Amino acid sequence: MHPEFIQMVEYAKNKGFKQICVCTNGFGFADQSSASRLLAAGISQVSISVHSHLEKHEERVTNKTGSYKRKIKAIGNLVKARAANQLVDGLSLKTVIHKQLLNRFRQHVEFFQNLGLDDIGFNFIRPDHGSRSSKWVPAFKELTPKLRELVLSNETVLKMNFSFLDIPTCMFPWEVLAEPRLRQRYIGKNFERCITIFSPTEKNGLRRFEWSDERKNSMKSHPAACSDCQLNDVCEGVWRGYLEIYGDGEFAAGPAKIETCFAAR
Ligand code: SF4
Repeated sequence: MHPEFIQMVEYAKNKGFKQICVCTNGFGFADQSSASRLLAAGISQVSISVHSHLEKHEERVTNKTGSYKRKIKAIGNLVKARAANQLVDGLSLKTVIHKQLLNRFRQHVEFFQNLGLDDIGFNFIRPDHGSRSSKWVPAFKELTPKLRELVLSNETVLKMNFSFLDIPTCMFPWEVLAEPRLRQRYIGKNFERCITIFSPTEKNGLRRFEWSDERKNSMKSHPAACSDCQLNDVCEGVWRGYLEIYGDGEFAAGPAKIETCFAAR
């Protein structure tokens, strides 16, 4: 949306940045000529957010009619660009885990695999604003068995790259937790990122902050049971909005599960 976005990318490229990644809703890439301009400016990696393979669910999430078709066109253009070696650092899908997706994980990933994607990052939905409801936010007791099925399908058939973020570690299936290779492969890592928000309402038109501090200090909490958990210092806990919907009862068994699974290997 920033009117000088292309100039920003060119500036970064001219300063010597080798990896320039864009996380996007894909709208800027839906048109072939605009996609070509963006890529020529120096973008080397794209992560495109799509939250359902079904048009009606995607547009409920984005609240924007027409967004689904634009994203699908963008994926077509980006897959072609990757085949032409223009996206040397990768192309991936970013999907929010919401309740409508739970029974459709497999169809979702197969749909995008058929479009040419092989890398999906799943983020557990942040219960905020319009999404702060059990209609959109699944309980972990519903999610964990679905994760187990998806990981099993991936290990045996799909063979894609998946990572899951913003799911408290103890809510992963025990089969994943007890096997270091699977932990490494599926439990996503939140990297330190300094965020700049450009907005006329901010002082000097911008605000800079560490995303990890924002999550830890104002968006997530540790349920009381976490004080006995060996991962208490490294696990970020859970979105506060989740606790407002479901409470913290699911976490009582967390420390023992972590201890048993991490001791297994
Ligand atoms: S018990 Fe708490 S600290 Fe331990 S993995 Fe679960 S949420 Fe994280």
